[in-house]
Amino acid sequence: MPLEEYAAKRKFENTPEPPPSNKPSKSAANYFCVQRHDATRLHYDFRLQIDGVLKSWAVPKGPSLDPTQKHLAAHVEDHPVEYGDFEGNIPKGNYGAGSVMLWDYGTFDLLGDVSGDEQIKRGDLKFRLHGQKLNGDFALVHMKNRGKGNEWLIIKKRDEFAAEGWDVEAYAHSALSGRSQEEIANNLPARKSKRKSAGASDRVWESDRPAKRAAKPAAEVKTKSAAVKKKRTLTSRG
Ligand code: MN
Repeated sequence: MPLEEYAAKRKFENTPEPPPSNKPSKSAANYFCVQRHDATRLHYDFRLQIDGVLKSWAVPKGPSLDPTQKHLAAHVEDHPVEYGDFEGNIPKGNYGAGSVMLWDYGTFDLLGDVSGDEQIKRGDLKFRLHGQKLNGDFALVHMKNRGKGNEWLIIKKRDEFAAEGWDVEAYAHSALSGRSQEEIANNLPARKSKRKSAGASDRVWESDRPAKRAAKPAAEVKTKSAAVKKKRTLTSRG
């Protein structure tokens, strides 16, 4: 049920995005990720693994460590956990066509003693992130009686990780491959060493070969078979 909308929007023979598997997630960790998605409009997709799927919000301005910035987060369809390490290009003509960067990933702890599902139902979800870029306490708050009913705000709580004036676009490189959005769009290889800070000018290439995943996210989210992976690689060519 939860992944039907995800599957209905996509033709998996035409996109490298993973089809939902019917296997339950083997990952015990609470995985989170943020993808920077250069689609019709650039946005960030914020995802939290809850109840075996990635609960997802599209955040036009991106998440922020600045507690004074309350950014709109549109609640969108659940994604399969296999989507959690997806980085690549969705070909033209497909839903969400454009380049997808795995901008951040890690784990999270739910705050409070109510389940994630219950917190989403009540429209007030609180959690602590342990990512490469995002850390500390956040809330997602549903704005009831507004718009289409899917409008939430993502808000950084004040803690030691809060940083006023923090600019998400100063960190526009992949947490997985170190690549910029343009480098992903052009299928350039992963960077040898990950950039630690914004604006680093050293460009170190791993090789001239096409980009492969340079590293795996800390949380193991992959459940798809090698055969499925191979098929996707073949069909996404050309
Ligand atoms: Mn998106």
